[in-house]
Amino acid sequence: MKNPFVCHRECAWSKNGCVNKMLDDAGVPNDPRWRSLILYFRAIADYPHLTDSQKSKAQRLIAETLAGKDFSDKRLAAVLKEYYGSITESYTNSIEELLREAAGMVKNFKELLVKRCGDLSVLEETTVLAVEEGGDEDSMITRLRGAFGELRTVMESDIHRLDSLAMKDALTGLGNRRSFDDFMQRSVLSWLENQIPLGLAIFDIDYFKKFNDTHGHRIGDQVLIVVGKQLSRIAEKYRDASNNVLSARYGGEEFVVAVSGSGAMYINEVAEEIRRAIRGYNFLIRDTEGNVVERGLQITVSGGVCTAWSGWKGAFIENMVDSADKALYYAKEKGRDRCAVFSPLDRAYKLIEG
Ligand code: GH3
Ligand code: MG
Ligand code: MG
Repeated sequence: MKNPFVCHRECAWSKNGCVNKMLDDAGVPNDPRWRSLILYFRAIADYPHLTDSQKSKAQRLIAETLAGKDFSDKRLAAVLKEYYGSITESYTNSIEELLREAAGMVKNFKELLVKRCGDLSVLEETTVLAVEEGGDEDSMITRLRGAFGELRTVMESDIHRLDSLAMKDALTGLGNRRSFDDFMQRSVLSWLENQIPLGLAIFDIDYFKKFNDTHGHRIGDQVLIVVGKQLSRIAEKYRDASNNVLSARYGGEEFVVAVSGSGAMYINEVAEEIRRAIRGYNFLIRDTEGNVVERGLQITVSGGVCTAWSGWKGAFIENMVDSADKALYYAKEKGRDRCAVFSPLDRAYKLIEG
């Protein structure tokens, strides 16, 4: 979108009058709240702490206001609310997700403790019985060691189970953000040390906020589960002896697929196949009793893809995510329901042909 706040005149920014003239021309009233807000938005492309999506949302917001010429107090409050919402939403979502995850882990941990309490009672009984029955010392020690050993074995498997639960997203059953970080750390190392190619695709459901608003959060959760299933079903097809594959929920309505191996060169195709599968999926809506109340719903995702680039000097994981993110927002800007690739070498964006 063309930035509507850029002054194209041949004059210095510091020269008074130019900015005010530009605002006058745009029909902005002489109200310091609107003027300062618009100047703030004018420079938004240069704020490094905002993501591309937050910047484009802010620009869209203010462009709509200028086009609509509504400079009322009500509109000011609505613009600020929506802007702050877009800034805080990712944090709010992450915190909510972490809380949900932590609550799930506590529940799992409690269940295990209850089970082990039962096992301890059995151990107590076994010990008391062994002592009461007496017999020779060696056989008593063998019996007790056996009983303690059994408990140790189940507790060791508890540790593995909790480890794997900590890597899983509770809603979709896919890997979670931690599993993604873990996979990327290992894969970046293989890429740096053994030149094993690494590809990443990030997907974001299109207009999901509207979907939630229309159908409710519970149905939205069902969609996340199905999208997760489709994504991992396709990603897993690319796993073989020389390709390690990860599909994970990156957070909220964002998913990632990463391929470490020669298959990383086909990450564009993987992304496109996933996008098409989700687009073609016939989503059903069920009521709380499980009856189908609506069918034929279509959900689309946009995808951003990149492969590891030898020109990066460090922060490899951040650079991968950032490049895939850039491509994702390019795909969004180009109309959604498409995948794009970002090449860090020439900083070029390209839509992937479907
Ligand atoms: P865009 O096409 O630009 O991505 O639009 P969008 O509406 O999908 O993007 P936006 O970031 O505005 O909204 C993301 C929505 O995802 C908002 C949030 O409520 C929803 N969401 C995030 N996590 C969950 C979740 O766990 N369950 C449900 N049902 N919704 C979620
Ligand atoms: Mg999103
Ligand atoms: Mg979205």
